[in-house]
Amino acid sequence: DNTHKKIPVTLIPGDGIGPEIVDVVERVFDAMGNPFAWDKHQAGLNALEKGGDLLPQTTLDSIRRNGLALKGPLTTPVGGGFRSVNVRLRETFQLYANVRPARTIVPGGRYEKIDLVMVRENLEGLYVGHEHYVPIGDDAHAVAMATGINTRAGSRRIAKFAFDYAVRNNRKKVTIVHKANVLKALTGLFLETAKQVGLNYADQIEFNDRIVDACAMQLVLNPWQFDVLVSTNLFGDILSDQIAGLVGGLGMAPGANIGEGASIFEAVHGSAPDIAGQGLANPTALLLAAALMAEHKGLHKIARDLRDAIDATVATVDGRTADIGGKVSTSKYGDLLIERMRDKK
Ligand code: NAD
Repeated sequence: DNTHKKIPVTLIPGDGIGPEIVDVVERVFDAMGNPFAWDKHQAGLNALEKGGDLLPQTTLDSIRRNGLALKGPLTTPVGGGFRSVNVRLRETFQLYANVRPARTIVPGGRYEKIDLVMVRENLEGLYVGHEHYVPIGDDAHAVAMATGINTRAGSRRIAKFAFDYAVRNNRKKVTIVHKANVLKALTGLFLETAKQVGLNYADQIEFNDRIVDACAMQLVLNPWQFDVLVSTNLFGDILSDQIAGLVGGLGMAPGANIGEGASIFEAVHGSAPDIAGQGLANPTALLLAAALMAEHKGLHKIARDLRDAIDATVATVDGRTADIGGKVSTSKYGDLLIERMRDKK
């Protein structure tokens, strides 16, 4: 449809399995009448080898211009003192919210009918990096310390994001996860602020709170009681991996990083060098990340069509890649999705 302008998106193929899974995303979106205009740029190990920088300026400029990026996994070189590209992106674009939905897609797993979303504060808390050793004596008596920082403004911003997300996505409940019984200042401030924010949504969204340790247990015993969860940086980091584990692991888990300067969508998994170039990679996580991006831009039908095609394709073993118990190759899986899109038209 040429009457609508396409939405420009920085597309980063990345390293390892990145180019193979990005290729499937491009082909599937073409088959759906792509609403996005891909602006392809490099980052990661391949960018370092070509131009001497893990995160080239041209890539940063593109993300800043478009305000939107879909990113394949990047290999972080070990040693050499390289700063993580993900941390640089987080700081540069003030990516304050990390959103990780987890939904049961492949039947027969550990849990059926899981559908929950973790919203993690991404810039504050114990990950601000104020860490050091205290020089008070010999090595046997070494002391290390870290400072966590939560602010009223940062807590309000993430809580507001979580409640707005709940409203936009027809969710019913937000659970505020904290440790305010022990970290009374650091997470007490977060809890108190998030509750205040919640009161503004009282007619639309129910909310409650859980202490993080009890929450971790409840996620195993009865995950169906949860809907949207919101937490500070460290707890959110740990719980979001736990939640990915509830629904069958890395090949199926997308993530969104929402910021002031841009929003960046990606798969949770890394570049999987052990299977790169063999047609074994599962592109579902990156496809689901692209669906989140479509939703973020209000393109709900495209997101729904894509999810429906994925659900129907992996419903039988003939439509599954090796990591989820099938034999289909990366590109053949893409073909199956495209066939389904065409059948629907
Ligand atoms: P990984 O996620 O790349 O791989 C872990 C295991 O899961 C491997 O056995 C891999 O084959 C498998 N796997 C991952 N994604 C898969 C998929 N889509 N389909 C099928 N199997 C899949 O984690 P790792 O091995 O610890 O890290 C490899 C590299 O990726 C490292 O350089 C790391 O720094 C980087 N990394 C990048 C990101 C990112 O860019 N967001 C995230 C995590 C790791």
